[in-house]
Amino acid sequence: MLAEIKGLNEECGIFGIWGHEEAATLTYYGLHSLQHRGQEGAGIVVGGNGTLQFHKGLGLVTEVFSRGELEQLTGMAAIGHVRYSTAGGGGYTNVQPLLFRSQGGSLALAHNGNLVNADELRFRLEQQGSIFQTTSDTEVLAHLIKRSDEPILKERIKEALTHLRGAFAFLILTETEMYIALDPHGFRPLSLGRLGEAYVVASETCAFDVIGATYEREVEPGELIMINKQGVRSERFAPKVARSICSMEYIYFARPDSNVDGINIHTARKNLGKRLAFEAPVEADVVTGVPDSSISVAIGYAEATGIPYELGLIKNRYVGRTFIQPSQSLREQGVKMKLSPVQGVVAGKRVVMVDDSIVRGTTSKRIVRMLREAGATEVHVRISSPPITHPCFYGIDTSTKEELIAANHTIEQIRQLIEADSLAFLSQEGLLQAIGRPNDSTNCGQCLACFTGQYPTKIGGEHVGTCVQASWCEY
Ligand code: SF4
Repeated sequence: MLAEIKGLNEECGIFGIWGHEEAATLTYYGLHSLQHRGQEGAGIVVGGNGTLQFHKGLGLVTEVFSRGELEQLTGMAAIGHVRYSTAGGGGYTNVQPLLFRSQGGSLALAHNGNLVNADELRFRLEQQGSIFQTTSDTEVLAHLIKRSDEPILKERIKEALTHLRGAFAFLILTETEMYIALDPHGFRPLSLGRLGEAYVVASETCAFDVIGATYEREVEPGELIMINKQGVRSERFAPKVARSICSMEYIYFARPDSNVDGINIHTARKNLGKRLAFEAPVEADVVTGVPDSSISVAIGYAEATGIPYELGLIKNRYVGRTFIQPSQSLREQGVKMKLSPVQGVVAGKRVVMVDDSIVRGTTSKRIVRMLREAGATEVHVRISSPPITHPCFYGIDTSTKEELIAANHTIEQIRQLIEADSLAFLSQEGLLQAIGRPNDSTNCGQCLACFTGQYPTKIGGEHVGTCVQASWCEY
């Protein structure tokens, strides 16, 4: 589904490289392949040879960087970031990487995720005299590092990380070193790769493919990796706890060609579709998926039911930030910029419309109507996730509980509101089985909090629900 029309947004994508003379340009390509994770801002900091330089701006990667700007970013190490703003809001100052210059040396930070205790930490730091440059939750890490009493930077970073709660995948670049850290629950994906002698790290493995890098391994939750001219060192900054990788990475965010924690996204989504077909079959003439994330699911659903898969909906890919969006009145007159039905495919047909989730319900209703206007005789909606009933505090903008349609309505009420002939959601058990994460016998390894309200960490100092092994979890 299209993030910008749905109200379900990823916060960021990060990419880093150490040991390549074209570090900035490779980071540009890496960020371009991660563009789906954030379209509001992009930035690159280069370093590794005694100084840090940066360029960042609002908009898509291709809008922020020109060849001339990249050529000026010289250095054999770089970190980059694409941003969708939730924590701290938008604006140029919050575009990452954030760069801090001080007498003790410069430091750049790129963060994917959301800290659930950022306000608390910020309040404490401000009372101790820290002055913040941004409203981003990311900046607290820089202040914690600066205030640490540990004698060397690696220990200061380790100590600072122990204060953070929530979801974080961090890249830190100094004049001479790069650090990589993933939170103890591992909410966000983070993979390591090699490009010749160079080391690369990215939110998704699709960024390795685009630059010809090979995948090496996942960054472990609770791990801090340090890379410098002497080589690579890995240490833990937190003890092992149950992994809670975000289920929505598999369902919706990650690109189909990425592997997240060893599982290919296209394959996982096809399995979600097959399981959905098993749980909620229906008599119909065609199956169509809402692009992009639900196409793989629709293919799986079609394969399992024998109903032909067709391209019933087309996404317009060229709607950039500066495009003049239609006003509400023009939208009501039928100006549809982002999604169009294929009349020749759906007219006179009973259509199964597969989508990844329903957040507020307004988009689903619009698509159902669009299909009917194009001549579909019936529209059966199948959703490849359980109902989203709780907000996310870990970096996904899923709206407040009041805005979540499934938090306040039964499935039958939602069906009526979106004007579908039938509606079914995937079960939680089906979700886990279809994704098929490895059995580690203690937990299912996935965060399900937006479906269950059982948050893996304290939220605002409180445990909200308890993330325990549920009766339906096999693992
Ligand atoms: S609450 Fe939902 S969206 Fe947020 S990390 Fe957990 S599974 Fe992902």
